[in-house]
Amino acid sequence: MTIKGFQGTSLLDFPGRIAALVFYGGCNLRCPYCHNPQLIDAPDELPDYPEDELLNNLRRRRKFIDGVVISGGEPTLAPGLLSLLREIRALGLQIKLDTNGLRPAVLKAALAEGLLDYVAVDLKTLPERYGELGGDGGDMQSFVGGITMLMASGVDYEFRTTCVPGWIDAETIDTLGKTINGARRWALQQFVPEHALDAQWHAVAAYPAARLQELAQRAQPYAAEVLLRGL
Ligand code: SF4
Repeated sequence: MTIKGFQGTSLLDFPGRIAALVFYGGCNLRCPYCHNPQLIDAPDELPDYPEDELLNNLRRRRKFIDGVVISGGEPTLAPGLLSLLREIRALGLQIKLDTNGLRPAVLKAALAEGLLDYVAVDLKTLPERYGELGGDGGDMQSFVGGITMLMASGVDYEFRTTCVPGWIDAETIDTLGKTINGARRWALQQFVPEHALDAQWHAVAAYPAARLQELAQRAQPYAAEVLLRGL
């Protein structure tokens, strides 16, 4: 697990902040609709982005950015993640972590050290269907334990659900909603077929906007704020 990409500034990925984006290659899932196919299927074909180069780049941008988004792939698989977070912290930058939540021990360690300012955790489908996503998957009991830990941590967070037909419907929203009941924020995202990891999904039609709005309505009772993205 190494860093495979860096993007200097983004207004979108760290709510309310101007951030740099760091991408790790590799993942413990293989969601057929993943929108970062090369990071999942062929990370070794992408050049590594050396950590010292990354830190120098961040130092140069320090006056122009508020923070760094650590994304992937699945960053919690990287053995050097915590030390990178410490280095970024030492630069005085805020940190957002994007994770599928399947390695809650890493999340716990980062939270315990005060290394995170915002965490986005994916809720992909019914817990019993995670095995169908491919990859190594994870232990759903620990996953749910990680969700509870994050919600009690005091660190700002959101849950994210890409509304892919066949994986997410109204009943799934209810089941996931009960798991995160009382959450601060739940972002429902539009599925983008043309970027899907599995080419068979390129021909699958995304939900129309009205259906996504219905799903967002369905999610309302479970989170203080429900957002719709990608419409
Ligand atoms: S967990 Fe995220 S990065 Fe990993 S395969 Fe699924 S969508 Fe892609």
